[in-house]
Amino acid sequence: MPQILIVEDDPEIRRALIHALQERGHAVASSPTGMQGLNDALTGEHDLVVLDLGLPDIDGLELLRMLRAVSSIPVIVVTARGDEASLVRALEVGADDFVPKPFSAASLDARVRAVLRRVNDDAPADSTVTVGNLVINPEGRTVNLDGQELDLTAREFDLLLYLARHTGRVVSKRELTLEVWQQAYGGADKTVDVHLSWLRRKLGETAAEPRYIRSVRNVGVKLVAPED
Ligand code: CA
Repeated sequence: MPQILIVEDDPEIRRALIHALQERGHAVASSPTGMQGLNDALTGEHDLVVLDLGLPDIDGLELLRMLRAVSSIPVIVVTARGDEASLVRALEVGADDFVPKPFSAASLDARVRAVLRRVNDDAPADSTVTVGNLVINPEGRTVNLDGQELDLTAREFDLLLYLARHTGRVVSKRELTLEVWQQAYGGADKTVDVHLSWLRRKLGETAAEPRYIRSVRNVGVKLVAPED
């Protein structure tokens, strides 16, 4: 499930944005100020930012400029209708799309999905993913850890590749069930757990002493580069 960060100071609009996206199946976090938003956007746990340009503590365009200096996270700006000049500037500074206020939930959702689709299409499906000393090659379907090739089953490989493509972000078991198993959710927790434990064993770690695969209690798991 895509994680969306909303940066908006107006509590009413913020609630409306959260509601619009949540009811259409997105996981939503929000920041009421620009500086907090910038901080949150840089944690790397979000897939897309919905950014209001009119913020009290920092100009939305300035925030976007700062964000773009270090991050390519997709950004959709929310702007008051008629504010064409700042809209054009936002696109120049690197916004991916915009939504005029007042927005409809359906059009916001459509733009979010379109931007996420575009971004996912841009990443070559066969490019190698490296996390710490773990090198995953989707084309050859091989995994090397500390220079040694691992012997993974097809499912373990798909699971690892999915986690690796979302490195640093918490992925829920529901999402894994949907994206890796391509099954609707419904008591598939155990299946995911079992495969995770097999995968951990092949990576030379356990749930009690994790290195790459970290459990996040009651939420899911994330793949990270080990700290050592
Ligand atoms: Ca505002």
